[in-house]
Amino acid sequence: MSETYIRENLEQIEKRIQAACDRSGRAREEVLLIAVSKTKPASMVREAMEAGIRDFGENKVQELCEKAEEIKEFSGQPADRPGAELLNWHLIGHLQRNKVKYVADKARLIHSVDSLRLAEEIQKEAEKKDCHVDILMEVNIGDEESKSGVAKEEAIGLVRAVAPLSRVHIKGLMAIAPVAAEPEESRPYFREMARLRDEIRLMELPGVEMRELSMGMTGDFEVAIEEGATMVRVGTAIFGGRNYNR
Ligand SMILES: *Cc1c(COP(=O)(O)O)cnc(C)c1O
Repeated sequence: MSETYIRENLEQIEKRIQAACDRSGRAREEVLLIAVSKTKPASMVREAMEAGIRDFGENKVQELCEKAEEIKEFSGQPADRPGAELLNWHLIGHLQRNKVKYVADKARLIHSVDSLRLAEEIQKEAEKKDCHVDILMEVNIGDEESKSGVAKEEAIGLVRAVAPLSRVHIKGLMAIAPVAAEPEESRPYFREMARLRDEIRLMELPGVEMRELSMGMTGDFEVAIEEGATMVRVGTAIFGGRNYNR
């Protein structure tokens, strides 16, 4: 695993992000690239760090915590600036309530909140740790049984219910488009997400910001940017394919 290939992949992706921004009249700064490092070792996270990436996405609480801990120990980092503060860890996978306690003060952003009970658990842990937690509401935009996320029709109700939780700050919405053969097939779902985000933003609910739109992965991030994504979550195109059987 040479360092150059992650760096080169990132250069290519950067060009594609820039081109998608140009096509849609958006500024590059409006889109955050989150490097999805799930199943990949901390050494590869460091390679991406050296190429300038500061935001990493993990699916599992344990893996996120382990890598955050490991990266703290990388040499070349000033001792007074531990890795956890240098990097932003994004929890992008499904979160169980009994795992909230491990991640509440480690994740920069939890992308996958999809129930009031989960949000209440986050509130409880944030009170204990005297912190606040930034979250996105995950919407099951393709209405797929296999996916988590709140149903589109219930998203506004859930945002209303979570908004009063003082330590849970709602920043926007997240979605995973249904698996598709062509990136264009994701477009209607992304467009619907942007519409929903705008609809909720216009409601100006206290405690709700609704600026962020986390959508788009290796197969469809350019379309997502064209439709208004503010965060794209890219794994395979940066780190290569994943082997879950190791
Ligand atoms: C794995 C994963 C990604 C990245 O997928 P790639 O296709 O490898 O880019 C993005 N978002 C979520 C929620 C994921 O689980």
